[in-house]
Amino acid sequence: MADRDPVQPIHQPVLPVFDEEEIWVERAAERFEDAAAEELLAWALERFHPRLAISAAGGVDGMVLVDMAWRLNPDVRVFTLDTGRLPPETYELFEKVRERYGIAVEFEYPETDTVSAMVTEHGPNLMYNSVDLRLRCCEVRKVEPLKRKLSTLDAWIAGLRREQWRSRKNIAKVELDRDHGGIVKLNPVADWTLDRVWEYVHEHEVPYHPLFDQGYTSIGCAPCTRPVARGESERAGRWWWEQETDKECGIHCSVALLGSPSDTERAVDTERRDREREEAAG
Ligand code: SF4
Repeated sequence: MADRDPVQPIHQPVLPVFDEEEIWVERAAERFEDAAAEELLAWALERFHPRLAISAAGGVDGMVLVDMAWRLNPDVRVFTLDTGRLPPETYELFEKVRERYGIAVEFEYPETDTVSAMVTEHGPNLMYNSVDLRLRCCEVRKVEPLKRKLSTLDAWIAGLRREQWRSRKNIAKVELDRDHGGIVKLNPVADWTLDRVWEYVHEHEVPYHPLFDQGYTSIGCAPCTRPVARGESERAGRWWWEQETDKECGIHCSVALLGSPSDTERAVDTERRDREREEAAG
């Protein structure tokens, strides 16, 4: 137990459920682990389109996927979550996507009444007041709209990479997304490095977010993202005032897992659950 990695893979339930769906997804993950991103995208488009869409928030990884998928099927669907707090440059990028690829990006919005009530009660910049309020804002502006969108799909594609952050280092290329009704989630560039992503961008002249030329390495909402200093990790500019959280907003893992004080506490919690499970099993 002592050498158990405290950071658990996201989208894997604490108690694995070895049902048919789980086994199917595990086999697909094994099959595509060493495959090219294009191969996985081609399989996914063939199998799930049009109930499949790429999630794009302005990051360079997502743009690589848009370009690759568009070359395989120009009708590929792309969606984004418009939180109401995006920087203007993000809209410039999606205009470029429209011009370059002819893709009408599907915009998803939070519920107006819920945003209004939250901002009236806590103020527009509630995210700086506590981790709980920051997560509440992410829940209202991102997590809920994503849930609504994914309830209409059978599979979605994300530009997550393992090297981005500790919470992402165990992601599989094909996952069962139990947080969203057990649909399939695909991470075709999970094993790519940032250098490889930029090589693809330059080689294929993929449009990219203007803020990358201003020191940003990750793109999110304007009040919660800033440029990073040399040597800082890619996601250091996200919620930079939070030192001990997982730098996630809940759309790529359950909100219940976020805002934890430290990996150590999570490891202790995991051990406690294991012990309880063993005791329950007799
Ligand atoms: Fe709110 Fe910031 Fe989360 Fe955007 S990233 S939803 S502004 S807390």
